[in-house]
Amino acid sequence: MTESLTTTANETAELRHLVGGAWRAGDGAQRESTNPARPDEVVARYRIAGDALLDEAVAAAQGAAREWAAAGAIARGRVLRKAAGLLAERAESVALLMTREEGKTLPESRAEVELSVETLHYHAGQGRSADGVSYPSGHPDELIRTVRRPLGVVAAITPWNFPLQIPAWKLAPALLCGNTAVWKPASETVAVAVAFAEVLAEAGLPDGVLNLLLGPGELGADLVARPEIDGVTFTGSVPVGRSIQAAVLPRGAKVQLELGGHNAAIVLPDVDKGEAAEAIVAGAMSSTGQKCTATRRVIAVGEAYDALVPELVSRVRALVVGDGCAEPSRIGPLVSARAREEVTAAVAQAEREGARVLARPDQRPPENGHFVEPTVLEGETGLTICQEEVFGPVVTLLRADSLDEAIEIANGTRFGLTAAVFSCDERVVRRCVAELDAGLVKVNAPNTGSELHAPFGGLKESSFPAPREQNAESSAEFFTWSKTAYLRTGTPA
Ligand code: NDP
Repeated sequence: MTESLTTTANETAELRHLVGGAWRAGDGAQRESTNPARPDEVVARYRIAGDALLDEAVAAAQGAAREWAAAGAIARGRVLRKAAGLLAERAESVALLMTREEGKTLPESRAEVELSVETLHYHAGQGRSADGVSYPSGHPDELIRTVRRPLGVVAAITPWNFPLQIPAWKLAPALLCGNTAVWKPASETVAVAVAFAEVLAEAGLPDGVLNLLLGPGELGADLVARPEIDGVTFTGSVPVGRSIQAAVLPRGAKVQLELGGHNAAIVLPDVDKGEAAEAIVAGAMSSTGQKCTATRRVIAVGEAYDALVPELVSRVRALVVGDGCAEPSRIGPLVSARAREEVTAAVAQAEREGARVLARPDQRPPENGHFVEPTVLEGETGLTICQEEVFGPVVTLLRADSLDEAIEIANGTRFGLTAAVFSCDERVVRRCVAELDAGLVKVNAPNTGSELHAPFGGLKESSFPAPREQNAESSAEFFTWSKTAYLRTGTPA
């Protein structure tokens, strides 16, 4: 067992992998995760998992599958409920760890821990829900009903931007449905992953039911290529998602992909521009813009444009960028030096292509650390930044003459994750809900944010058309196979 990470002083944690119920040292190269606000601070150190540990993890998950499936959903739900309690007890230390390792502000980390606790409770409760549908039969002595069977061994590959919440969305229903799992988290947030795996293991998961392997993307590729893996749930970039799809689908295993977005918010002249600007800044800048659901384009219709500009500008000028642990920081750093380079380069390219900077905070961000300035650009829909996802606090304001044009612009990317519309006109709202290419349409609210019990997922390149995440019925659709049983009573001998 590792030293528990729940006492989060500023020390460096030495991490291990969870394989077959034991905390094991890695058998590959040495790696570390660092604090994006203070890159000299090493948060965690570990040796990555090599082939031997991967073999063992997959074998452990396979070995534990039969007994876990037989335990029943109520017993499995009890383990999740206990995990929720343990995570709630450790909430503050896990939130601090998250801010140190991922960079988001402490209030954002606390909110993520709280929602992850709720996610565990929600799926725990599903252990007592109806688990099939019955149908009438043409035969008088027959009952027809569906029954669910777990897939078997599931691989979960998760990103760094919600290092606890996304794993909770995936692992809680996967385990509740009776699957065992091998989880590979993002390299940037390995310590948070270990803290979560500790909670699940201590809650009483039998050995081998959850296995955690730390390592680079290639480890993820090797994991999903294993023929023993019966389903893969992934959140991350489009190219990696597509490579997983290509590796897994031919062998008939299931794949769930939650990928990028290029989310638009349409603002009509009839709304309060201050309220719309408040929601847009929250949607574009919270979590330093590192959300797949974040607002990337604002499309102001007609006279809404000129009225919206000062409202956006004043709010963005007032943002305070800094260490997420320190007051009054509202925007933390980006997750890595690479992310900072990508965002800075994308803004510079947009300026070269003719975009104009409308607003940046009055206060400069700290020099040390992976900080960038939140930026509102003004430009045309043909800009590269209006087509390619830039994972940072940057949003582009566009002008449309009519609602028709706004919808056309909003739909004019290969993505389809979220969209928002700000209007009090019900006809406008209904049209937007019907016509916007987005898996989530928000009305008079930020693009970001979703409820853990409602289906979540995108259209077009934002998702793979598998059952959606978060909602329990959708999760059960993904994490199980459904069978139909025709049940007749036998005649007593
Ligand atoms: P990636 O898609 O590269 O990483 C997501 C996860 O996949 C990580 O655990 C990663 O491991 C793993 N991975 C990487 N390569 C492979 C592979 N070939 N096979 C299997 N697993 C792999 O995203 P990044 O973190 O690099 O971010 C890049 C971009 O992706 C962002 O700028 C953003 O556009 C998008 N993104 C979208 C997210 C969303 O919520 N939809 C979340 C995060 C990113 P490792 O960390 O070790 O590389």
